[in-house]
Amino acid sequence: MIKVTNLTKEFVQGQERTQVLKGIDLHIEEGEFVAIMGPSGSGKSTLLQLLGGLDVPTKGDIQVDQHFLNKMKERERTIFRRQKLGFIFQNYQLLPTLTVEENIAFPLHADGKLTNEKNKWIHELIASVGLEGLNRKRANLLSGGQQQRVAIARALVNHPAVLLADEPTGNLDRAKAEEILVLLSTFHRRKKQTIVMVTHDIFAAGFADHLILFKDGVIDQVISRKEEDYAKYLANFMA
Ligand code: ADP
Ligand code: MG
Repeated sequence: MIKVTNLTKEFVQGQERTQVLKGIDLHIEEGEFVAIMGPSGSGKSTLLQLLGGLDVPTKGDIQVDQHFLNKMKERERTIFRRQKLGFIFQNYQLLPTLTVEENIAFPLHADGKLTNEKNKWIHELIASVGLEGLNRKRANLLSGGQQQRVAIARALVNHPAVLLADEPTGNLDRAKAEEILVLLSTFHRRKKQTIVMVTHDIFAAGFADHLILFKDGVIDQVISRKEEDYAKYLANFMA
């Protein structure tokens, strides 16, 4: 689903060049749930932005669902992003004065009118993220956990090939974080949703099939849930 080769990203500020991603190779299969962890500033968000077509690499290839993002013109990339990708962020990024259903419907407006079929799908999503009865409630009146549920439903409304999540539980307490992770892993298991999640939280990473450890703009280690190391790594990390 995602294939990245020799991905390099440099930021230039005045005379200074900073290489944030230093030649990354990465392969994510359809239906996988992958967690990316690593120190602050190691380039995790930058990688996610590139995978999501929100920025372009300095060098290297990014293939998502067999399309080369790095070969697209900006307009083409925007359309691809809207049709094929879903994003969730630490700070939810909802439109505060719109209701739950208006926020979720928002990405669909670019493709024309809301049909009955689309409205039905929005209501199904509201139920599947556990927000029944809150359809008409304004986003700014919801709790953090509820706002992230709306953000997840909005990210899934276009049936994305990949759901990209940048610290989705970063603003939530443990109980609320767990609810969000259970929700994500339900979509992963039931709908075979491909998910790439950046997280600081080893507890959150425990829900993923693979753990990618990032360090200074390179992939330091990839640990698979099937390996004995995974449990050991998680246990060590938490000790
Ligand atoms: P992480 O998400 O792992 O904390 P980021 O990808 O946000 O790390 O940032 C990695 C490095 O890239 C940081 O040193 C950050 O300052 C730098 N950086 C990120 N975005 C930009 C930008 N748009 N311009 C210049 N530097 C940036
Ligand atoms: Mg970040």
